[in-house]
Amino acid sequence: MMKLVAHCMCGLLSSVAGLGSLAYLGESHAASDTPAAILLQNVRVFDGKAPRVSGPTNVLIVGPLIQTISSTDIEADSSVTRIDGGGRVLMPGLIDAHWHSMFLATTPLVGLTSDVGYLNLLAAAEANATLLRGFTTVRDMGGPAFSLKRAIDEGVVAGPRIYPSGAMITVTSGHGDFRQLYELPRTIGGPPARMEQIGASAIADSPDEVRVRVREQLMQGASQIKLTAGGGVASPHSPLDVSTFTPPELRAAVEAADNWGTYVAVHAYTPRAIRTALDAGVKCIEHGHLADDATAKLMAEKQVWWSLQPFLEDDGQGQFPEGSQEAAKKKEVAAGTDRAYALAKKYKIKTAWGTDILFSRELAKGQGAMLASMVRWYTPAEALIMATSTNAQLLALSGKRNPYPGKLGVVEEGAFADLLLVDGDPLQNLQLIADPARSLVVIIKNGVIVKNSLAAVTPANKTFP
Ligand SMILES: [Zn+2]
Repeated sequence: MMKLVAHCMCGLLSSVAGLGSLAYLGESHAASDTPAAILLQNVRVFDGKAPRVSGPTNVLIVGPLIQTISSTDIEADSSVTRIDGGGRVLMPGLIDAHWHSMFLATTPLVGLTSDVGYLNLLAAAEANATLLRGFTTVRDMGGPAFSLKRAIDEGVVAGPRIYPSGAMITVTSGHGDFRQLYELPRTIGGPPARMEQIGASAIADSPDEVRVRVREQLMQGASQIKLTAGGGVASPHSPLDVSTFTPPELRAAVEAADNWGTYVAVHAYTPRAIRTALDAGVKCIEHGHLADDATAKLMAEKQVWWSLQPFLEDDGQGQFPEGSQEAAKKKEVAAGTDRAYALAKKYKIKTAWGTDILFSRELAKGQGAMLASMVRWYTPAEALIMATSTNAQLLALSGKRNPYPGKLGVVEEGAFADLLLVDGDPLQNLQLIADPARSLVVIIKNGVIVKNSLAAVTPANKTFP
């Protein structure tokens, strides 16, 4: 039986779910103007930046922000929700820098043949699951996530903060062109293809078309722009080796984004695709698993971000049919992962962590396990710093288009209260992140408790109204 306790948070989802479930309490507006407050007592803090946990600490959250962090007692009145951390580790909510909120619970076929309403409902359920895995923010790198983001921000459904790119912009036959061959030839200026109608991707074959497509995403609230500058794994007509957009097309995108104070990220695997993008002023390379030494060096010199995912050959079981060209492409990319991380470390490239999980609810459950797999290349602390404060720096690159201006990915006074209480020390054992149902005993987003499994078993729940 689910246990729900409402506390007043104007306009925000407000629930305490004993078994990790969530509910929308739409009528929880309080008459009082006093923001809700939570006092976390006796926690040890991993702040998202330093590779250590603190001694016993108390943390006071007021409204959406962390107000006070202190090793001594914090005075608080009886209206404050108290959580006894019991010496557990408090850390920032996790950030996935490469996520596709709208395409987790669908196959490409379902995505292309279903009503958008259905896709949004699937995505809302997955957003809830994402939050309960401890991911309080995602950078959405392609898909019609604007309505989902809005509903989450309004507290209608539970989910992470979303930095949306909107439709991924591609060339004819590029990564993201999911048309069937019978849909060719396309009449220039003709009706949009199905994937364009739903805002999943947008085809642009000239600098002018690129400008239109970029501005359409910005108009809808994109925080950054995503182009596919080379071939991809999951799309049917784009061999991995191809470069897609021409330099003038890439420059048109960069200029249109820059006019709005934000940046372009490109999907690219090969040295040629990466270099063409860097020359055009692209600020972030998504993937890049086939980069060579000279290209990595150039990325470092230009101080661009490398948004890299720990793809391994043995992951993604069942994502693509055995023997399919997609499965073969995934293998080729995964074979580059070790070298890519080695190059990122060698040249001290600003490296973001993300998963790029697509088209599989089962794989989505392994989001935390993909972070845990980073111990192949990094210490647990390095991996956690990457998935919190470092990823937050990449998010901030959205500048004036940042939908959540403020401090994310850190436990510090004045930062957003997106927090996880971990039963165990993730700096010693990163596998804890792979088992969120058990390890993450409290999840707080924007100062609202979305999970508190301590409340069901400790006297602390008696302090709730
Ligand atoms: Zn992707």
